[in-house]
Amino acid sequence: MENLSPIMLGFLGSLAAGSLTAVGAAPVLFGRIPSRATRDLSLGFAAGVMLSASFFSLIIPALDAAEPMFENDAMPAAIVCVSILLGMGAVALMNEKLPHEHFKTGREGPEAASLRRVWLFIIAITIHNFPEGLAVGVGFGSGGMEGGLPLAIGIGLQNAPEGLAVAVSLLGEGYPKLRAWGIAALTGMVEPIGGLLGAGIITLSEPLLPWGLAFAAGAMLYVISHEIIPETHRSGHQNRATLGLAVGLVLMLFLDVWLG
Ligand SMILES: [Zn+2]
Repeated sequence: MENLSPIMLGFLGSLAAGSLTAVGAAPVLFGRIPSRATRDLSLGFAAGVMLSASFFSLIIPALDAAEPMFENDAMPAAIVCVSILLGMGAVALMNEKLPHEHFKTGREGPEAASLRRVWLFIIAITIHNFPEGLAVGVGFGSGGMEGGLPLAIGIGLQNAPEGLAVAVSLLGEGYPKLRAWGIAALTGMVEPIGGLLGAGIITLSEPLLPWGLAFAAGAMLYVISHEIIPETHRSGHQNRATLGLAVGLVLMLFLDVWLG
């Protein structure tokens, strides 16, 4: 492992994390689907891990990376704030633009609305997996094993309930088991692409790092607020969802400090 280049580590680490999406979705293949309450709890956990990761693994490292570049403290903070907003805006824009055309034709009425909601959720999950991969790649690229491992573990853990949520919502729309699982697994395969890019960028161009990290955090924060938390609160399991979020948040914080 020590002989691997940081870019290779970033790629393999993010590939491993992304693969847990497929593992998490596997119960649908065997017809063993956890209850909605359990899914809301575990998806809440994913939201907590992502919330923690966006601050401890992306925003704080972004500030740390920007501070040596400037004399004052306002500039690094401003760069990070602008990048977060750009990241949130980019995902909002993609959510707005991408799926609509696709659903103009085909099914109509409430059925189409539910199918459209499911696909919006899937697209949002896929989009935010890119910055997650980016974060893992940057972690390995800048800090080697020590920098990347806590992120790969944390991001991998929260991918499992996300994969399950995607596969189960597709089953609910009448997709066959294997296709539902396959689509869920594909959403995770965006991560190694982000991982490769993240490890590459940090190795090639350090000045871009604060922008990239904070942009990735913004993209994740948008998905947490716009897709994941609302999804966990739609079926009356708010308490479980919040419990999951609390556990995910402190677990990621602990991993980051302990392994980082
Ligand atoms: Zn996630």
